[in-house]
This record gives sequence, C-alpha cells and structure tokens, in this order.
Amino acid sequence: MGAALGLARRGFAPVLVERETRVGGNAGSSDLHGIPVDLGSHRLHPSTDPEILSTLRDLLGDDLLQRPRHGRILLSGRWIRFPLRPLDLASSAPPRFLAGVAWDLMRRLLPLPKRCPGLKSFASLLWRGLGPTICREFYFPYARKIWGLESEEISAVQAARRVSAGSMERMLRRVLSGTPPRSGRRHRNTFFYPRQGFGQLADALWRASVAAGAEIVLGTPVQAIQPGFSKSGIEVEVEVGEAEEPRTLSCDHLWSTLPLGEMVGFVDPPPPAEVLASAGNLQQRAIVLVYLVLEQGRFSEFDAHYFPNPPVPFTRLSEPKNYSDPEEPRDRTVLCAEIPCSTSDFIWTSDDEVLGSLVLEGLRVAGLPVRARLLDVAVRRLRSAYPIYRVGFEAHFHRVASWVSHLPGLVSFGRLGLFAHDNTHHALLMAEAAVRCMEDDGRFDETRWEVYRAGFSTHVVED
Ligand SMILES: Cc1cc2nc3c(=O)[nH]c(=O)nc-3n(C[C@H](O)[C@H](O)[C@H](O)COP(=O)(O)OP(=O)(O)OC[C@H]3O[C@@H](n4cnc5c(N)ncnc54)[C@H](O)[C@@H]3O)c2cc1C
Repeated sequence: MGAALGLARRGFAPVLVERETRVGGNAGSSDLHGIPVDLGSHRLHPSTDPEILSTLRDLLGDDLLQRPRHGRILLSGRWIRFPLRPLDLASSAPPRFLAGVAWDLMRRLLPLPKRCPGLKSFASLLWRGLGPTICREFYFPYARKIWGLESEEISAVQAARRVSAGSMERMLRRVLSGTPPRSGRRHRNTFFYPRQGFGQLADALWRASVAAGAEIVLGTPVQAIQPGFSKSGIEVEVEVGEAEEPRTLSCDHLWSTLPLGEMVGFVDPPPPAEVLASAGNLQQRAIVLVYLVLEQGRFSEFDAHYFPNPPVPFTRLSEPKNYSDPEEPRDRTVLCAEIPCSTSDFIWTSDDEVLGSLVLEGLRVAGLPVRARLLDVAVRRLRSAYPIYRVGFEAHFHRVASWVSHLPGLVSFGRLGLFAHDNTHHALLMAEAAVRCMEDDGRFDETRWEVYRAGFSTHVVED
C-alpha cells in the first residue's frame, strides 16, 4: 500500500493485486463484536522514519494516537513491567533471577574462561552478550515457543535482528534511560496507534492511493509470473484470479510482497532445481490467534502480557481496547492470545472450542483466570507470521534472492518478500526506497536499490 501511494503520487499508474478481500496483510484489522482487533499485538514504533510518520499523520490526523506502553512479562511466577523499569525490576523480579544476572555481570568483568553453547548461533551470541541467566530464563524458552527450535539451531542473524538489547551494556542502558538501543533517539516508552485499530493505517493508505490514481484489485490471487523482454523493454505478465477464471495483466514492473519462497514457485520458466530447493528451505512459522470475547468492560489495565515460558502455550496476550482506550463498548472486551505453531501440528488444525479452552487454561495457570462470561471465541490463522532463520539459512536466502534479482522487471520486498522479521515501519521504508528508485522515465535504478537493500539488512525488530 505504501508503494502504491508513493508511485501514484509520482504520476505512475500502479495496480495493486491482493489475494484477500481486505487490505493490510498481517498488519490489517477487523471488527469483533464492535471492537476493532488486530492480527496479534501491533503498534507503530516511535523509531518510524520521520517522513513516513509525517505522511501517516497527514492521513490519519487526530486518529493517530500516541499512547504509553503498559505491558508486563511473567517470569518464574512474578510479573515484571515491560518496557523494563529499574525500580520495578529490582522489586518485582525473582531474587534468584536478579542474583544470577548480577553474577553474570561480575563474571564479564573477571578474566574467567567463558563457556558458551556452540558457535555462531542465536544461543552463542546471546549467551556471550547477555549471560546465562537472561538466556535460560527468558530468551531461550521464548525462542523455542516463537520459532519451534532450540536456540543452538537458530542462526546468529536472528539474534542480531530480533533482539535489540543484545548485550548487558545495551540492556542496562535501556532499563536505566528508556532509550531504545541503536535508534539513537529518545522516546518515553510510548507508541503510535490508530484510533480504529492498526489496520486503519493500511485503510488510510488505500484510500489515499486510490485518490492519487492507483488501482486496487482485491480478492485476486497471483498465480503465475512471466518476466521477460519485449520490443518496448521489460514486460512482466502476471496471471491473476482464481484458477477457474484466470486473467493476465501486463506491466513494466512487478513489485512483489508475496513470501519469497512461494513467489519463486510462480515464475515461468521455473528456476534451476537448486534455487527451488533453497526456496523450499525458506520456512515461515505460522501463528494461531485466539480471540476471547468477554462480558466485562476491561480484563486488565495492561495492553500486552508476555509469556516466555511453558506451560502457558501462548507467547503474548493483548487486550485491543487498551491500545486505543475507547469509551465504547462498555460491557465487553476482547483478549487475543498468540500461539506460534507449525501448519503440521495440532494447534493449527484444532477447532475454535479446543483452542478457546487451551487459552482459558493457560490464563488460569498464569494466575489470570477469566471470571466474566465468555461471549464468543474466534480464531484467525496466519500461515506466514515469522521467518525461521535456521543455522545456515543465509546460503539459501542469498541463492534465491540473487536469482530473483536477475529477473527483468521484478522486485521482491516487504517482510515476506525479503524473508525479514521486520516491523511495519521497516516495510513502509522499503516501499519508499523502491519508489525513490523509479526514474521519471519509468526505469528502475537497480544500483540504487542494491544500496537500499544493504541498509534493510541492518533493521532491528522492535516488540
Ligand atoms: C503477530 C504479529 C505481530 C506483529 N506486531 C507488529 C508490531 O507491533 N508493530 C509493527 O510495526 N509490526 C508488527 N508486525 C509485523 C507487521 O505485520 C509486518 O511488518 C507487516 O505486515 C509487513 O507488511 P508487508 O506488506 O511486507 O507483508 P504482509 O502484511 O504479510 O502482506 C503481504 C500481502 O501479500 C498478500 N498475498 C500473499 N500471497 C498472495 C498472492 N498469491 N496473490 C496476491 N496477494 C498475496 C497477502 O494477502 C498480504 O496482504 C507483527 C507481525 C505479526 C505476525
């Protein structure tokens, strides 16, 4: 949507083809019993590029709220505020945890041999940076839940791109000053959030794109892609629509935000066998979102609860009303539990009733029993939620990305298109960069795009 708006405002004529009947992808929203709900907890982070933030402010006006973050983490049976605060941490964290962290900190200062699990993995990087206690109590079990892998099996790249406080020094700085590491900018633990749900961002971009001349085609899956050269230059043929009613679109450029591995499977003529095999190795973790509709004004005062450890099966529980703080409805609220899974395990195939019971039991175990009447359980399933960076994934990614980069007229970008764990503000930045690469005469500046691409690999995800 960001690219469609940018291109249309530059005078090009973009056509956006979307499989679903709504815009927004994983960053979209829907309505549940009169309450806007997102696909899991979504917030716009203050580190959003100022130009992009200003565009969004122009589009949303007063509807783009700035809200205080108000979450907590369940650690060994104790609740800790998140984002972390020094006094709360000192008084609420389990004493054994605090003693462990203090000992790890001291060991860093002493010239003792440091053991770390394996080499060049998520485990080794974090173990070295944060010490054994934080790894064992938080990051390793959390990683097991999110990606379904042991930390030793996960690439070190995941640690660099997913864990913004990757060293004791950065963690301390974050706790003491509230400054997000690496962003270099101060913010006071706030976030931006649209009054009518996170998807209001995509909806606003949609409306503005159409007003600027873009065509948005919904409910239309891309089935096949034929990049090539014609007498007039590059021409890409895209087959769209359901299998029974396919039609062909011809375009000068195709910018794809489809999952990279899946998109490669649509290209005709198909890639060499080794590229296809690598594409198959770019796996995504799925997520099941379980929404409980409760007959009570608010379930808690918190926007999100984080659960790094079993036996609670979900990683995060959000209460959408606490993101925008609406007055209505007064008699009901929604909770959204995020359960990462594989599409081959029982979570993915379980019915709503089973999943609802699983979440209710998880809440009971966590000390947050639901006492209000349960009005409804709704479930949404996201097949491509988190890229899985298994050790060695880099070679597969580079093989596929390099093959795609030689296809005339084709650019793969966005969270799924670059197999990145990025936030929405990163995806919007990619869109803006791609639009900048368009020359006025309609040529795409590949060299400039490569420079931007190198910059994207430094994105660090914010929670
Ligand atoms: C649980 C969860 C929580 C998150 N929380 C945050 C957060 O707090 N803050 C934040 O900034 N970001 C968050 N994100 C990330 C955010 O959702 C993404 O950064 C954003 O959605 C990326 O946008 P995108 O356009 O690159 O990809 P997507 O949103 O995945 O969009 C891809 C689009 O391609 C479409 N598509 C796929 N296949 C086809 C096909 N064959 N034909 C046509 N269309 C197709 C899909 O329907 C989809 O609309 C979160 C993500 C998840 C999963």
